[in-house]
Amino acid sequence: MTYYTVCPDCGYKLLKASDGSQIEIYCPKCKAKMLIEIKDGKILIQKILADKT
Ligand SMILES: [Zn+2]
Repeated sequence: MTYYTVCPDCGYKLLKASDGSQIEIYCPKCKAKMLIEIKDGKILIQKILADKT
């Protein structure tokens, strides 16, 4: 089973990932860095705060 992960800020479709994945990614649209975790069919997205210049 794969899940679509979507940026919580801008709604950009980031990637497809399967259960048990843990991915660190930059949104190409709004440049937010986040950690995506898929566990037991639930998509958890944590934003990683980074300095913006
Ligand atoms: Zn975004």
